[in-house]
Amino acid sequence: MTSAVQQLHVKEWPRDELESVESCPVCGESARSPLHTDLADRVFFCAPGTWTLHRCHGCGSAYLDPRPTPDSIGLAYRDYYTHAATPPVGVPRAQPGWKRMGYALLHGYLNARYGYAFQPASALGAALLSLLPPIRFRADRKVRHLRRPPAGARLLDVGCGNGAFLTQMRSVGWDVEGLEPDAVAAAAAREAGVSVQGGGLAEYACAEQRYDAVTLNHVIEHVHDPREALRICYRILRPGGILWIATPNLASQGHATFGRDWLHLDPPRHLVLFTPSSLREAVDRAGFERLVTPAAAWTAMRVFRLSAAIKRGADPLNRPPALPFGLKCRAFQADLRTWRRFEFAEEIVLTARRSDG
Ligand SMILES: [Zn+2]
Repeated sequence: MTSAVQQLHVKEWPRDELESVESCPVCGESARSPLHTDLADRVFFCAPGTWTLHRCHGCGSAYLDPRPTPDSIGLAYRDYYTHAATPPVGVPRAQPGWKRMGYALLHGYLNARYGYAFQPASALGAALLSLLPPIRFRADRKVRHLRRPPAGARLLDVGCGNGAFLTQMRSVGWDVEGLEPDAVAAAAAREAGVSVQGGGLAEYACAEQRYDAVTLNHVIEHVHDPREALRICYRILRPGGILWIATPNLASQGHATFGRDWLHLDPPRHLVLFTPSSLREAVDRAGFERLVTPAAAWTAMRVFRLSAAIKRGADPLNRPPALPFGLKCRAFQADLRTWRRFEFAEEIVLTARRSDG
């Protein structure tokens, strides 16, 4: 794999397909300092060029400058497995008994906590998961902390991939729609019966007050103009509607540990990386009222393992080497620490509400 990395270093992104970014795309501040230089695509090994990530002195976010233009960014997604084939719907029949029991416990918890009617469900799940916070945090994230909607409530998932999340939420009462720029993933979602539009949020620039919830799961870091994206989210939500965002956390323990080898730098696909406070401020400026921060799912073990693979020059997505024992302990400690201090988790999860009207 070293040779692939070396090839990327010598092959440049087409020069006339780069654009400069003179001020922070999150807050507009122009003062900054370089955070990482000479970064290359060491995750999917398909994007040519080397990249510099700058840290904004205003809000603490980091951003690429220069970066691929919106017209050329597709070059960075040639081998990007967004979201494979057909999404699963419900619980597959052929599951072994113990797996069905696992689903039943999970569903029992979600039904009790969020008011849904997932099936099969066991009432034991609510009691059991209350004793197991790491599993509970993952379960909460599965429904993106959204409560059961009133009849006819509409959910838009921006960057919906193959529609797996939307098919699941449709089964428990949401009217769902997706936005997905990747044609293959969008086709898979449509095959599952989900209404999907190609492109990004700009498609909705003129729309108003259509949705009761809008979700962006690891999407906003790929967007050229995150401020405009948040403004559009605000406009397309109905008063009282919920915005849910998850994005990598630049202030995470993974980034502190691995620095330029951290998985979530992912240049040049990640154009902007937020800290918890920079995302909060951006959401506030777009007009939202922030809600209580949900507990972070424990993902440090995976992020540490893949980052360690990048550091060793291995392919992080194809049988990454096992994490050495010392780093395993550090990853476990990192997850434990986020139990109460979400601001150090590998991802930021934020919920907010359009509160006018
Ligand atoms: Zn900034």
